[in-house]
Amino acid sequence: MQSPWGEIEVADAHVHFFSHGFFSALAAQKSSASETAESVAGTLGWHAPPVADEALAAAWVEELDRCGVARASLIASIPGDERSVAAAVSCYPDRFYGYFMVNPTAPDAAQRVAKGLGEGSLRCVCLFPAIHRFSISDERVRALLDLALSHNALVFVHCGVLTVGVRAKLGLPSQFDMRYSNPIDLHAVALAFPKLRFVIPHFGAGYFREALMLCDLCPNVYLDTSSSNGWTRYQPEPIDLKQVFRRALDVAGPRRLLFGTDSSYFPRGWHSAIFEAQSKALGEIGVSAADARRILGGNVMELLGG
Ligand SMILES: [Zn+2]
Repeated sequence: MQSPWGEIEVADAHVHFFSHGFFSALAAQKSSASETAESVAGTLGWHAPPVADEALAAAWVEELDRCGVARASLIASIPGDERSVAAAVSCYPDRFYGYFMVNPTAPDAAQRVAKGLGEGSLRCVCLFPAIHRFSISDERVRALLDLALSHNALVFVHCGVLTVGVRAKLGLPSQFDMRYSNPIDLHAVALAFPKLRFVIPHFGAGYFREALMLCDLCPNVYLDTSSSNGWTRYQPEPIDLKQVFRRALDVAGPRRLLFGTDSSYFPRGWHSAIFEAQSKALGEIGVSAADARRILGGNVMELLGG
C-alpha cells in the first residue's frame, strides 16, 4: 500500500470474522425461535454472511486486495466458532492469521484450545475477562496459557471498556463485569509466563496508563492500536491519536505496537478510515519509515512468523 513512507506492507492485527456460525449463535440467543443468521444480519443492516466460511474468507481476500492490505488477523468472535476462522486460514494461509475467542469458564475450554492450536491454523487465543466474568489469574486460565505457550501462540486479553454494538442493536443483554478488565491484573500472569506474548487491544481501551505500566514492566506485552479509540474521551486531559502514539512509543517502543482496525462486517468491509487516521498521526509525529513498517504490519508478521 502507498503511504507517507512509500510502499508499505500492511497487516491488520484485528479483524472480526463474523461468520454464519457467529450470526446463528446470536440468533439462538434471541427469544424468538424464528430468528436466523439472515434475519439477524438484516436487523443490523449488514450483508448476511455466506453459509460457507470459505466464501466469507474469499470476500475478505477480495476486500483486502481492493484496499492493498497484505494480511489480516481474523478473530472468531464467539466461543465455539473457531472452525470458521480455521477454514479461512486453511484456504488462504498467506493472507490470514487465525485468532479465536475462548471462554475459560466453559468445561470444554482446554479441549478447544488444545484442538484449535494443535491443528496449526489458529495462532492466538482471545480472552475477554469482562464478558465471561473471570479473572485472568484464575487457575482455569493458567491451563489455557500453558497450552498457548506449548504452541508458541499469542494470547489476546481484552481490557478496559467493552461494548459489543451488535448485542445492543439486537436487544441482547450484555451482563459484563468491568472489575475483571484492568491490565494490572495481567501483570503477575505476564511475569509468570515470560515466553508467552500477550496482546492488549485498543491501547487498553481506557486503561491507557495501566497498559503502559504493564508494557514497561513486561517486555512480553504488546498493544494493538485498533478501533476509533473512543476511550481517549476518558482521559483526565483530552488526548489525541498523536499523543497516544507518542506515549506508547515512548514506553513500549516501535516493536510492540500492532496496527489494527477492528473491521468486522460487510458492506463496510475493511475500515480504511482507521488506517488513514493512524498513519497520518504516525506521520505527523515523525516516526521513521522503518518504525512505521513495523507498526503497520511488520510486528504482527514477525510475531506470527511471516
Ligand atoms: Zn474488536
